[in-house]
Amino acid sequence: MASLLFLFSFLPFRPMETADVVIIGSGIVGSSVAYHLAQQGCTNVLVLEREAHQGKGSTGKSMGGVRAQFATPVNIQMSKYSIDFFAKFDEVVGHPADYRAHGYLFCATNDKHLAYLKGNMERQQTFGVTNVEWISPDDIVKIVPQLRVDDILGGTFCPTDGFVDPHSVMMGFMLNAREQGVRLWLDTEVTGIEVENDRIKTVNTSRGPVSTKTVVNAAGAWAAQIAGMAGAELPVEPLRRQLVPTEPFDQLPQRFPMVIDMSTGFHFRREGKGILLAWNDPKETPGFKTEFDTSFIEKILTHAASRVPVLAEAGVNPRRAWAGLYEMTPDHHAIFGPAPNVAGLYFVNGFSGHGVMHSPASGRVTADLVLKGKSELIDAHQLSVTRFAEGRSLEETAIL
Ligand SMILES: Cc1cc2nc3c(=O)[nH]c(=O)nc-3n(C[C@H](O)[C@H](O)[C@H](O)COP(=O)(O)OP(=O)(O)OC[C@H]3O[C@@H](n4cnc5c(N)ncnc54)[C@H](O)[C@@H]3O)c2cc1C
Repeated sequence: MASLLFLFSFLPFRPMETADVVIIGSGIVGSSVAYHLAQQGCTNVLVLEREAHQGKGSTGKSMGGVRAQFATPVNIQMSKYSIDFFAKFDEVVGHPADYRAHGYLFCATNDKHLAYLKGNMERQQTFGVTNVEWISPDDIVKIVPQLRVDDILGGTFCPTDGFVDPHSVMMGFMLNAREQGVRLWLDTEVTGIEVENDRIKTVNTSRGPVSTKTVVNAAGAWAAQIAGMAGAELPVEPLRRQLVPTEPFDQLPQRFPMVIDMSTGFHFRREGKGILLAWNDPKETPGFKTEFDTSFIEKILTHAASRVPVLAEAGVNPRRAWAGLYEMTPDHHAIFGPAPNVAGLYFVNGFSGHGVMHSPASGRVTADLVLKGKSELIDAHQLSVTRFAEGRSLEETAIL
C-alpha cells in the first residue's frame, strides 16, 4: 500500500478538461460555429469529432450548391448573408471557398410551377436578392442549347447562385478558428452528456470527460442522438440522397448553371470534365443508409435523357457514384437555438439539404445566440425547436 501511494504521488495530476463552449461535430456547420465564436472573441472552444478526419459526414458528400432562390423569407435571408459571405470568403477567412457564381436556373413546365416561381421571385427581390430574373424558354435554350424546352413555359435565373467546395469551406472555417485558439479533437466520440439541475455539466467522450456549461450540437444527421444524450428531443431524421457523376462529357457547355427540371426534380451541373446528376427519389425512406443503390442509376438516367437527350450518351461508372445523408426536419427548415428543457444546450441542426449553403449564416446566428441571446441577422425564434409543439411550423417547398 505504501509503495502504491508512493507511485501515485509521482503520476502527473491531470485536471478535468474544460471549455467555455463544446461543439459536437466538425462538419461545415460545427466549423462555421467555431469560426464565428472566435470572431466574437470566444476562443476557449473545444470541437469534438469522432472521425479521424473532418468531412466524413454529410459535408463531404454534398453537391456544393448555393442558392438564394428559396420560398420562405428566413431561408432567403440566410442565403443572402451566406452567398455574400462566400463571395468574400477567401479574403476574410484567409482560405479558398472556390465560390463559382454560375447561377441556378429553375425551369417550370406547368402553370402551378410558373406561378410558384413568380411568387418566390417577388419574395426574393423583397428580401434583397435583386438580381433574380424571369427567363423565357428562348433564353433558357441560349444558356443550355441541349435542353429540351418544348414543354418549358419559363423559369427563373439568379446569377449569384452557384457552387462552393464544401470541404474547402469547412477547412477554411476550422483553420481560421484554430489560428484564433479554438481546439479540435479528432478521433473523439461523444458518448454521453451529464446534466445537473437541468443544466449542462459534463460532456463524456472516448478521450475522457470535458467540463462545460455550453454545448452546441452540430452533429448533422446524428443530431437527435446527441440531443437524446442530454434528455432533449430533436425532430431530425436521416434521409439518403444519391449523386451520380458521368464520365468526361463534352456535349454540354463547359460552364452553365445548376439546371432544375421542376417536372421531375431532376437537376444537374458541371463537375470538372463530367456532369453531376441529382434527383430526389420520393420513394426513399428515413434511416442511416449510406450505401449507394445501383438501381438508382437507371432511374436518374431516364430523367436525365428525357430533359437533356444528349445525356443518354453519357457514360456512368457506378463505383464513382455516392450516397450521403440529408438531416430532415418536419418542415424542412433548420432548427436553431436553445433546447427548452436543458440550459446550455444549443441546436444548429436539421438543414434538410441546405447545410452547406447556409453554413455562414448558421454559424453567425449560433454564435450570436450563445454569446448574446439574440441575433440581428434573422429572427431566430422562427427556427426554434419549440415551433413544432407551438404549431409555428414553416413550409419550405423549394427543396432539391
Ligand atoms: C448527396 C448530398 C448532396 C447535398 N447537396 C447539398 C448542396 O448542394 N447544398 C447544400 O447546401 N447542402 C447540400 N447537402 C446537405 C449538406 O451536405 C448538409 O446539410 C451539411 O453538410 C450538414 O453539415 P453538418 O456540419 O451539420 O453535418 P456533417 O457534415 O454530417 O457533420 C456532423 C459531424 O458530426 C460528427 N458526429 C456525429 N456524432 C458524433 C459523436 N457522437 N461524437 C463526435 N462526433 C460526432 C460526424 O462524424 C460528422 O463529422 C447535401 C447532402 C448530401 C448527402
